[in-house]
Amino acid sequence: MRVVMIAPPGAGKGTQGGLIAAHFGIPHVATGELLRDHVTQRTDLGRSIEGHLDRGELVPDDVMMDIVRMAFLDAKAGSGGYVLDGAPRTMDQARAGYAIARELGMLADVALHLRADDHELTRRLLARADLEHRSDDTERVIRKRLKVYHRTTHPIVAWYAQRGILVSVDAMRPAEQVSRDILAALDARRPLVGDVRE
Ligand code: ADP
Repeated sequence: MRVVMIAPPGAGKGTQGGLIAAHFGIPHVATGELLRDHVTQRTDLGRSIEGHLDRGELVPDDVMMDIVRMAFLDAKAGSGGYVLDGAPRTMDQARAGYAIARELGMLADVALHLRADDHELTRRLLARADLEHRSDDTERVIRKRLKVYHRTTHPIVAWYAQRGILVSVDAMRPAEQVSRDILAALDARRPLVGDVRE
């Protein structure tokens, strides 16, 4: 099973991505986590992107595509499945990711979209801020991340709908209800896996 997730900040990508990975026995590739690891470890890449993360801006597409290519290669060396959480986030990333995945025989079977409104998302992120102390979970940066999502990321959803691989789930409900819907939808698609239109 190969899944990409498109969702605004706070919708539950991390939680649901982890559950999907455990359910199908596939790696959970969370781009934000990978980037934050670079920052924590003070790598050259980490130093160059720290400001983007702190301001709630996207890191450059070429940086992201190197990370995605690497993740696809790792996944290919393993079981061949993946759940990609956090990319693509721009239309250019979607196109570039498609080209890389096609070249490697790793095209997504499902694009999973999680829906929630900005009020609920802000509430969740501020609640999380007290627990996790992420540098981008402040009210000002949350507003910026939501704006980037609506303007730049959300348009990709229609592109996946056209490709016929979109699954859209209401993420306003408790996490267990959301995951039940997601796993049911993904299990129903399992027989179709490998039959995705290019
Ligand atoms: P959230 O969805 O809550 O914002 P993530 O952990 O997915 O959290 O992402 C955190 C930050 O990492 C983003 O605000 C952005 O700066 C950077 N990032 C993650 N994925 C991408 C991507 N595909 N393209 C560009 N920047 C990204």
